[in-house]
Amino acid sequence: MTPEEFREYGKQVVDWIADYLAGIEDYPVRSRVRPGEVRAALPAHPPEHGEPFESVLDDLDSVVLPGITHWQHPSFFAYFPANASGPAILGDLLSAGLGVQGMVWATSPACTELETVVVDWLAELLDLPAHFRTDTAGGGVIQDSASSASLVAVLAAIQRAGGRAGDGRRYSIYVSSQTHSSLEKAARIAGIGAEYVRAVDVDPETLAMDPVHLDTLIAEDVAEGVTPALVCATIGTTSTTAIDPVARIGQVCRARGIWLHVDAAYAGVSAVCPELRWINDGVAAFADSYVTNPHKWLLTNFDCSVLWLADRAPLIEALSILPEYLRNAASASGEVIDYRDWQIPLGRRFRALKLWSVIRWYGAEGLRAHVRNGIELADEFAALVKAHPGFRLLEHHPFSLVCFRPVWPGKSTADANAATTELLERLNDSGQLYLSHTKVGDDVLLRLAVGAPMTQRRHIQAAWDRIRTEYERSQ
Ligand code: PLP
Repeated sequence: MTPEEFREYGKQVVDWIADYLAGIEDYPVRSRVRPGEVRAALPAHPPEHGEPFESVLDDLDSVVLPGITHWQHPSFFAYFPANASGPAILGDLLSAGLGVQGMVWATSPACTELETVVVDWLAELLDLPAHFRTDTAGGGVIQDSASSASLVAVLAAIQRAGGRAGDGRRYSIYVSSQTHSSLEKAARIAGIGAEYVRAVDVDPETLAMDPVHLDTLIAEDVAEGVTPALVCATIGTTSTTAIDPVARIGQVCRARGIWLHVDAAYAGVSAVCPELRWINDGVAAFADSYVTNPHKWLLTNFDCSVLWLADRAPLIEALSILPEYLRNAASASGEVIDYRDWQIPLGRRFRALKLWSVIRWYGAEGLRAHVRNGIELADEFAALVKAHPGFRLLEHHPFSLVCFRPVWPGKSTADANAATTELLERLNDSGQLYLSHTKVGDDVLLRLAVGAPMTQRRHIQAAWDRIRTEYERSQ
């Protein structure tokens, strides 16, 4: 494709995306295709001869779009949001256009240095501690996902505990039943046996980790000759946005010299709003690492997860391997950052461009407005649920997620759960909205997470009207 052809098709693609976003409400939120349907509609073999780009766009409309679940739809309320926005999409396009692979500083100095500036900006926007900034011993880095960020935190923690993943010693990490499964996966990859992924009790009401039980488990492991490597505290759990007591957990970690990793994948970005900074109580004093995902709720399309460290040395010691073909004068000078040493893969995308575009386009005030809008709409939805006698609301909803359940008088818990699940399927099949579910104790709960930039009050009201009507119909 020549630059002139690229110009022509590029304009068509940008128009396609703009039309898609402008008309997104016309699509059913959740894709209705059956398993295998998209695959069956595609040729089994690649073309021998090149095809015009128009055919790609045609197939996008006829084959791909029906198989898309529309995450940017204003009535997408499932899981957590995966925000995108115009500036983020354009930033990502520029990244693709430059085609940079930023594994070391020398392979594109701007890729590294812009990333450093942007993660420092974000730390400032979230009022994270000064020792997370890159002009200290700490620093931030963009990872593909919180899962990767937590994995490298585990590897750094093992390094600081005096070992190496796979060195035959027994290491343990501490999570709760509410911790994201990525920590269990990280432990598995790091060679930590499942029996050493220790589940700390949670408070049955708040679902927050119990620091006293944490201390007990650690003491047991130490007595057994196991080396405690890392504790993961979560700010905004995946299931219900529970918040672990970071300061109290941090005191246990400090007393025992254990790495404290804070997983704030979804909720962390809400600290752009000063009134939500309390969520990070204890982070400045105790956290060794902290992750949050602009790709969830900060208008930056997947993938963009930011990990900060209070001290980057153990991470770099854990991950740095220097083969001859990567040696270069800049790296040897010690004056530059080589982010390849802060992550699992060698190669890396120029992700900073999209986050930079987002922060510059919206400014701090625009980002705050986006987060506040999500929280306000969630609060309004929660008030509607609470006022209806047929529903029970989970009162804790500090962010933009609301958990609730319909009441099924006379039904056993199992039957009530089945009825809730059926209701959920009917709602999602309608194409008008998309919710997901979780389980708390024995009860299946519905989850409604606000976050798509296009979501307005009318979408929340419409979602509630449909949920209420479907529920009343099934009584
Ligand atoms: N941690 C928490 C608290 C999450 O809610 C999630 C995803 O929802 C993750 C980690 C995993 O995020 P990622 O998809 O970026 O790995």
